[in-house]
Amino acid sequence: MSDLNVLRSPLNFLRSSLQDIPLHDVLEAEEGWWKNEGVAISDAIDRAGTPWLRMFDRHGKRVDEILYPHEYQTILRRGYRSGVVWRALEEKSLIPTYLLMYTISFHDPGVCCPYTVSLGTAVPLAKYGSAELRARFLPQLSRKDDSVWQGATWMTEIKGGSDLGAAVETISRSAGDCWLLTGDKYFASNANAELAVVAARPEGAAPGVRGLALFLVPRHRKNGELNYLIRRLKDKIATRSVPTGEVELKGSEGYLLGSADAGIYLILEVLNLSRVANSIVSVALAQRAMADALSYAEHRAAFGKPILDHPLLHHQFENRLNTLRSAFALAWESVQLLNDVWMERPPYSDRYHLFRLIAHLAKYWTAEFAVDTAKWAMEVHGGLGVLAEYGAQRWLREAMILAIWEGTSHRQILDGLEVMERKRAHKLLFQRLAEFAPTKELQAMESEVEQHLMLPPEKREALAEPLFKKLALFTAETLSRR
Ligand SMILES: Cc1cc2nc3c(=O)[nH]c(=O)nc-3n(C[C@H](O)[C@H](O)[C@H](O)COP(=O)(O)OP(=O)(O)OC[C@H]3O[C@@H](n4cnc5c(N)ncnc54)[C@H](O)[C@@H]3O)c2cc1C
Repeated sequence: MSDLNVLRSPLNFLRSSLQDIPLHDVLEAEEGWWKNEGVAISDAIDRAGTPWLRMFDRHGKRVDEILYPHEYQTILRRGYRSGVVWRALEEKSLIPTYLLMYTISFHDPGVCCPYTVSLGTAVPLAKYGSAELRARFLPQLSRKDDSVWQGATWMTEIKGGSDLGAAVETISRSAGDCWLLTGDKYFASNANAELAVVAARPEGAAPGVRGLALFLVPRHRKNGELNYLIRRLKDKIATRSVPTGEVELKGSEGYLLGSADAGIYLILEVLNLSRVANSIVSVALAQRAMADALSYAEHRAAFGKPILDHPLLHHQFENRLNTLRSAFALAWESVQLLNDVWMERPPYSDRYHLFRLIAHLAKYWTAEFAVDTAKWAMEVHGGLGVLAEYGAQRWLREAMILAIWEGTSHRQILDGLEVMERKRAHKLLFQRLAEFAPTKELQAMESEVEQHLMLPPEKREALAEPLFKKLALFTAETLSRR
């Protein structure tokens, strides 16, 4: 029982999982605020549903304003002030960002989406933007007060998000000191961001992903008019603390980041930041679902005692806590490796390829685990678990988005397979795990991976899931022994 108590607080769980936690006081303050104030606001926002898009002002002028409840700004701005973006830029480390995200997303997984996409805007700007662009836009994204600008990362179009090379139809045309972008973005989170990074194909560029480039697109044009329009907001089952919309680019002013022919690398670097965030948020969500299930199971009685005290349920809690710990170890490994390589540019080091494999394993496994845990936590609540007025069902809705956003589980499996085939990243992984895994188990896993990679291509892909899952679990469990 004493061990299960760790589930009740994200900070206690972090303390029990990590040797050293920088930012301890900030995280403590964050957790206290969420308990006392944030949770009630977050619940109300989730219950209230999608915010309202006011497209025209009273004079009939297009304004595309998103009307949130005032309290939404309270939770949103708090994370920015605490340093979810500015610390990464100022301290040149991603550790504070992801620690904050863990603590916050235990209470509201959705609000970490705006933070993630703001980070995904600031980092490529800081890394690849010209000196002029950086001077013009970076200070607004790194402000420490409520005037901070938000970012957004818009790649997905109506034809799909998995196959960006075929689906991105947004075109960019060079126009002197900027580019003009025309096209529609179909799943645009943080739809009213002051600044977005947008995937588009420069006119005449190669087909496929190689022809894509990354552009910085401000909310307003140089003459002060709206630079993009919001067609509508999506009515989503969860992450209601972030407005996701459809965005129309009509000759929108954009600024090229890096060189046009390296655009796909920049796009993948943006995805890396959010896949790691997704992994951290998934583990925090699983912890939250378990914490709620624990509180319920302590008080609900059946067959003469609290349901928690029945051997089957008690064993499930303990077992799942072990899996939570190993899922966290995997997610945190992706954080640490990203923190080592996030400033690299192509051509990348071996360490970068190792990071990619770990990130695919972590995005895949933590999201699957979050969905499974949220379902299980609902079951622990019995019939009350399906009632909208109680919280248990929310975690399942939120978890389903984590499994899809930034590349579904299929995408992670296939991209993970690719980095093993092309970069032999599994070799680097097994070298890294050698210190902590029993030699026999390590050799068996390695030989299974090698045999799989030798299968004919169609079979290799068709049968990839069980292998990828096994590798994810093996990696997670080995890392948690460390
Ligand atoms: C709440 C929310 C917010 C979002 N916000 C943003 C955002 O801000 N910016 C942005 O760019 N995108 C955003 N997205 C889009 C998201 O990234 C995509 O939904 C995701 O990448 C999948 O793309 P898709 O929905 O078009 O599915 P598709 O690409 O159409 O795929 C459909 C299904 O086919 C599977 N599939 C595709 N190819 C293969 C294959 N080769 N083998 C096996 N299976 C395959 C997929 O895994 C999926 O299960 C958001 C999505 C959600 C749900």
